[in-house]
Amino acid sequence: MSATVLSGKEPAAAIRTETAARAAELTAAGTPPRLAVVVATADESSAWYVRSIARAAEKAGITCDVVDLGPGASSSDIRHKLAALSADENVHGVILQTPLPEGAKLEDLASAIAFEKDVDGANPLSLGRLAAGLPAFAPATAEAVLTILDHHGVELTGRHVAVIGRSNVVGKPAAHLLLNRNATVTVCHSRTRDLAAVTAAADVVVAAVGRPGLVTAEYVRTGAVVVDVGTNPTEDGGLVGDVDAASVAEKAGALTPVPGGVGPVTTALLLRHTVQAATH
Ligand code: NAP
Repeated sequence: MSATVLSGKEPAAAIRTETAARAAELTAAGTPPRLAVVVATADESSAWYVRSIARAAEKAGITCDVVDLGPGASSSDIRHKLAALSADENVHGVILQTPLPEGAKLEDLASAIAFEKDVDGANPLSLGRLAAGLPAFAPATAEAVLTILDHHGVELTGRHVAVIGRSNVVGKPAAHLLLNRNATVTVCHSRTRDLAAVTAAADVVVAAVGRPGLVTAEYVRTGAVVVDVGTNPTEDGGLVGDVDAASVAEKAGALTPVPGGVGPVTTALLLRHTVQAATH
């Protein structure tokens, strides 16, 4: 058996097309959508990611300002910049890029992003609202998990989903989004005992860990759906997921690829959130 490939490219393209149309309408109506990405790191892969957001924004007709405060920025500098961008009526979406300078915490600083402009769901208020079932922007990566599953017609109601990872940017918000869709959710982490037995009991496994190849065939029940959120750089400049695709594809019913799965949908959703924020 070889698992069906749940590509993210088609849903991402559909979201980008719809977003570009909405951005053109907003611009014509005098509200050109604008996204600000605050950077305080010299990290190479972060710079690559920010360039890819800026390129995608430009193609969709969204202005993207990269506000580079440099790796020496203090928490106070970052907080003030986020607050100023939040107060700027010409800016509709604000993202704080990670990694952050030593000692700075995303959850702490992101509370300075107005929740209406928090297009990557980093403000703890957004996570709280999500948990309470109130409108809020979810972190784009967490939402991308559901978008891919929906696009490929994977049913969630009543099904057992195991999420591996409990970060505030992926694991926890994904678990809340899945709960809001009536899945039965088990959240696993580094202290989970007998992880393979827990995940092998699930209909759907979401791997958001940051450990290349952690999820092998043993972690997956025959026919299960597997979403690989992991993006782990390889020595040759490539990207691998948290799932050992070769062994898991022989057992799972369906699997998202890396690259070409969650990643492109994440970027597309950030842009969709920005035009939604400009619409409010
Ligand atoms: P993170 O903050 O480092 O969290 C990792 C989570 O995995 C933690 O909850 C940790 O448990 C758990 N974990 C670590 N080792 C484990 C193990 N051996 N067994 C079970 N659980 C384990 O990472 P993140 O920011 O959530 O990102 C997760 C992955 O998604 C990374 O590969 C990242 O690059 C990728 N990512 C992709 C996108 C995209 O657009 N595709 C966006 C964001 C992130 P504890 O809580 O117990 O420490």
